[in-house]
Amino acid sequence: MTFLDLRSIKLRSGEEYRDEQEVGLQPLILGGKRYVPVPEQVPAELVVTRATTGTVFELRLRVRLHGPCYRCLEDAVFERDLELREYQADSPGDSDELTTPYLANDRLDLSAWGRDALVLALPDKILCKPDCAGLCPVCGLDLNREPHEHAASGGDPRWAALAELRDRL
Ligand SMILES: [Zn+2]
Ligand SMILES: [Zn+2]
Repeated sequence: MTFLDLRSIKLRSGEEYRDEQEVGLQPLILGGKRYVPVPEQVPAELVVTRATTGTVFELRLRVRLHGPCYRCLEDAVFERDLELREYQADSPGDSDELTTPYLANDRLDLSAWGRDALVLALPDKILCKPDCAGLCPVCGLDLNREPHEHAASGGDPRWAALAELRDRL
């Protein structure tokens, strides 16, 4: 996990601190399937700006997530540039909007921040291509590679599967 130790950064009002960081991201489990960030250590640009009444944190990173297509289970890639911003007031009072959940004991949790932002940026379904045809509900073959239909007139789908197999032999 990647943290930024704020005690090592002393800023006066109006000053900023810039750094290149590698942010470690954990694999995500979505719908029972595993999606892995590639690389797992994501190069990121971090800017910390000291304002009069608090501190602004900005993080820019490009994430790539590899995992199975929601429809056909072939490899799919999700890629996105993330530009994140959090604010921590010196005296936030009771307002959640003036604090960042990723800051605790002067340490900013860059990994948790990046992971949450990635999850929010994800589409409903990660697909190998937008028009992925998926798997045939009758025989399970990949409809992208072998587009086909089965006769709708009833029949036992197991026989259909055998017929498919026979055709392929
Ligand atoms: Zn697919
Ligand atoms: Zn089929």
